[in-house]
Amino acid sequence: MKDANAFYIGGEWVAPTGASTIEVLNPSTEEPVATVALGTAEDVDRAVRAARAAFESYSQTSVSERVQLLERIVEVYQSRSQDIATTLMAEMGAPAGLASTAQVGAGLGQFTFAIDALKNFQFEEQRGSTQVRYESIGVCGLITPWNWPPLLIAAKVAPALAAGCTMVLKPSELAPLNAVIIAEILHEAGVPAGVFNLVHGDGPTVGSALTSHPDVDMVSFTGSTRAGVEVARSAAPTVKRVAQELGGKSANIMLDDADFASVIPRDMGDVCANSGQSCNAGARWLVPESKLEEVLAHARSAAEAIVVGHPEQEGVQIGPLVSQAAYDKVQRLIRAAVDAGATVVAGGPGRPAGLDVGYFVRPTILANVTNDMEIAQEEIFGPVITVTTYSDVDDAIRLANDTVYGLAGFVSSADLERARAVARRLRTGMVHVNGAGLDFAGAFGGYKQSGNGREYSDFGLREFLETKSVFGYA
Ligand code: NAD
Repeated sequence: MKDANAFYIGGEWVAPTGASTIEVLNPSTEEPVATVALGTAEDVDRAVRAARAAFESYSQTSVSERVQLLERIVEVYQSRSQDIATTLMAEMGAPAGLASTAQVGAGLGQFTFAIDALKNFQFEEQRGSTQVRYESIGVCGLITPWNWPPLLIAAKVAPALAAGCTMVLKPSELAPLNAVIIAEILHEAGVPAGVFNLVHGDGPTVGSALTSHPDVDMVSFTGSTRAGVEVARSAAPTVKRVAQELGGKSANIMLDDADFASVIPRDMGDVCANSGQSCNAGARWLVPESKLEEVLAHARSAAEAIVVGHPEQEGVQIGPLVSQAAYDKVQRLIRAAVDAGATVVAGGPGRPAGLDVGYFVRPTILANVTNDMEIAQEEIFGPVITVTTYSDVDDAIRLANDTVYGLAGFVSSADLERARAVARRLRTGMVHVNGAGLDFAGAFGGYKQSGNGREYSDFGLREFLETKSVFGYA
């Protein structure tokens, strides 16, 4: 396994200015797999200067040059797929199946969709006598979490490259190794020196040096709402644009005409995929009062059928949580919910049988959950589902919207139009109807405290562009 002990600045791997490092732990074994250097504000400054030096020339490249560059990145990325998957298994415990398909594929999809968006985008339009131009915003600071590393890094790097921007990436210090592979891919694909730079480190030091840097024009941040607030505060004095992709607490409204026998195992699998560590996980189930017993019976058997284990083992569906801190938080939330009156339908506190080492948790269903409980309001980020009943559709929509978050909603129904009518009333940036599937042609992002940015396709591209009006008459 690689280490993350060097930074990629100005087209080459350079030594950090400081000497601090931390270990990257394999969450299945709790053993160190690598070390990561913690950068300093000086490292960030060096990377920003490299990005600034590259900006003028890179931002002037033609659309076809940038399309060719992205196509070359796609080829090199594909050749590194196995390496990406193996690294995901080690640094965040993703099961082999998920790592090599959904995780690797999602990163690749961001590059391919960025190519389409770039080919189709109108960078200049005439409005009467005014020319409106969309220009590269400049030097971008990109900050990402650890839960879907190739996807979340590519969702920023691909549109930023497409837009003609230069950038400094600070990936999560918990899972930094995929970012090293992405840097190698970009290097091999011929991304010009200084266009992409990588500095590892923690949020308060490296993250905030980037967000507050006077020569960074824009910050694209994905992470928790708590850190997003810090990012906005730190970026405010320099009035830079901040695109935020933050936490969620997504409700899944099951309408009374849903076929629960098939809906429940599907939705259970969707929530538990990636060990429940997805920002849009529909883990807050809202169920008609009249269907509660039926839902709980299916949910119990679906939860008990999920195979938890080591990422490389055949048939394993969910691996561990990412860290001891994540494990402790999920255990605390489950216990607090039970103390507050929730009942355990499946799973519960403690470890799955036979998994005494690693941050494994039991797929858990909690019933008798009311919306005022902490478990119904806090993002859990684990394979834990809460079940709350509703009296009628208005009540379900009220409960779904009763959260500070607004990332995603889910609706299950046998009637697509009925589900879409509910979708229109949800205060969320996305609604998944009948399953968690999504399409990179749509926009990914949230309302309320789930953020203000939009990623994927031309929506992602627009985040990295400024709008200029050229007024004038012949
Ligand atoms: P986190 O907020 O702890 O960290 C995310 C990144 O921000 C890391 O790189 C971290 O080092 C950095 N950071 C932390 N404090 C910072 C600061 N003060 N200034 C600058 N950078 C700082 O989140 P996490 O635990 O890595 O990820 C899980 C969270 O991310 C969840 O809340 C999840 O919902 C959210 N998430 C959102 C989306 C989305 O698209 N909306 C996608 C994935 C994850």
